[in-house]
Amino acid sequence: MTGTETLTKPGLQDAAPQQAKHYDVLIAGAGISGIGAAYHMTTQCPDMSFIVLDALDSFGGTWHTHRYPGIRSDSDLYTFGYRFKPWTGDPIASADKILAYMNEVIEENDLDRHIRYRHKIVSANWSNEDKLWTLEAQRTDTKEIVRFTTNFLWMCQGYYRHSEGYTPEWDGMDKFKGQIVHPQTWPEDLDYKGKKVIVIGSGATAATLVPAIAGDTAHVTLLQRSPTYFIPGRNANDLADTLRQLQVDETWIHEIVRRKILFDQDEFTRRSIEEPEVVKQELLEGVRAYLGPDFDIDKHFTPSYRPWRQRIAFVPDGDIFQGISSGKASVVTDEIERFTEKGILLKSGAELEADIIVTATGFNLNVLGDIAFSIDEKPLVFSDTVTYRGMMFTGVPNLVWVFGYFRASWTLRVDMLADFVCALLNHMKEKGVGKVTPVLRPEDKDMPLLPWIDPENFNPGYLMRGMHLLPKRGDKPEWQHTQDYWVEKDVFKNIDLDDIVFSYE
Ligand SMILES: Cc1cc2nc3c(=O)[nH]c(=O)nc-3n(C[C@H](O)[C@H](O)[C@H](O)COP(=O)(O)OP(=O)(O)OC[C@H]3O[C@@H](n4cnc5c(N)ncnc54)[C@H](O)[C@@H]3O)c2cc1C
Repeated sequence: MTGTETLTKPGLQDAAPQQAKHYDVLIAGAGISGIGAAYHMTTQCPDMSFIVLDALDSFGGTWHTHRYPGIRSDSDLYTFGYRFKPWTGDPIASADKILAYMNEVIEENDLDRHIRYRHKIVSANWSNEDKLWTLEAQRTDTKEIVRFTTNFLWMCQGYYRHSEGYTPEWDGMDKFKGQIVHPQTWPEDLDYKGKKVIVIGSGATAATLVPAIAGDTAHVTLLQRSPTYFIPGRNANDLADTLRQLQVDETWIHEIVRRKILFDQDEFTRRSIEEPEVVKQELLEGVRAYLGPDFDIDKHFTPSYRPWRQRIAFVPDGDIFQGISSGKASVVTDEIERFTEKGILLKSGAELEADIIVTATGFNLNVLGDIAFSIDEKPLVFSDTVTYRGMMFTGVPNLVWVFGYFRASWTLRVDMLADFVCALLNHMKEKGVGKVTPVLRPEDKDMPLLPWIDPENFNPGYLMRGMHLLPKRGDKPEWQHTQDYWVEKDVFKNIDLDDIVFSYE
């Protein structure tokens, strides 16, 4: 377990093996998942060594990368926060508040000494002989390659490429005389004061950005191909406020409010499936309350899909609708024919003029961090594997990927998977084994293999575009990411680590 972290010059990575630093566990990514994993290592596996590597220059992942005006969570922080660290602010929080919360977790648990920033993992090879992963990380500052070995890889690298967002190719983009900006790479000095801005997109990012810049721009137009559901409401939690008034301890408030929110969300999900039309009308009523009876809600805010098939963003104080009501912002539902010198020509024939066009058009899915994975130097193709409960993969030893929930807060799964990983690591130690690989059971051999997620169940663009890259799903819950927190919370704590799906060596 000892050794010196050794640097090699770029291009020398194929030279004689360098002395690599060894850790029992290597956590890829220092976003909300990776910092959570690190905390659980210190508390549930205190005798094991671990390191966290991140390509960026600080912690936070999503909340570090996204810097567009107004950047905030779209779900509540009582459940997006960790179960072990009370959230004491407003339910919907800005990126800087989320980063401050994560910073407290790092400081309170002395996690900094375990984290190496500016280390982009570029390759990972599993050796069956040594029962070890060997990783190469490139330092983003010096370009040097640093080698690490580890017994277990805890992949907390998220699900999208941080370096650039997804922008579709439209005709005439090169002719547009203004500036085209993606929210994921928002220029710090972007001057939108007094300018005409178009924001293309209909998701949470567009809904956040429009009210945040509306006051400063000459006008901002939200241009969407099709509408999305939103839940407008007060950015407060009445139960939390009451409990605080009664001077209840923050640890209790956190737990009670989490339970209440999760209970309500469960109910909402159930109703979305059982009575989608009623739920749909309720959601539309919420929007109508801000926009009034004369606004064309049918055209601009009535999606064609049933509620919950895509993530529903909570809109604090209905701010986007207030922007529209005030006339500073408007919404156009149409398709783009092409970009012009002055703006965008729509399929309807209308032309929108702009100085700045923001493409809030989503992410590029990246499967396991764009890392060149191999097993005994043979390239590993994740789409050839079957997922074990959306976290491990058949034929891939000693690796867990933290992929959270779409309909509930991502972080709920961070804590839950951490319990599983730490139990598994401790179990392997007790058994004296060095390798665990999920394997299909005899009864699973003829099981149909399906895409990672059922598009009927959940179908955002970035997943649809990248589904072919993701591992397969079977037709039994063991072989799926069910996206159902309310079932998984009970199932996960009862996973039998000696089940035959786990092959130990
Ligand atoms: C604007 C926005 C708002 C969102 N709001 C919510 C919300 O309110 N609620 C919710 O549940 N979800 C939300 N999400 C989804 C959100 O991304 C996740 O909930 C969560 O932040 C993901 O955390 P993560 O740590 O798993 O991944 P990320 O935040 O993506 O962090 C992954 C980290 O891994 C690093 N990394 C990746 N590849 C490598 C590599 N090869 N080598 C080294 N490091 C690597 C990255 O640099 C990054 O720091 C939001 C997403 C966005 C973009």
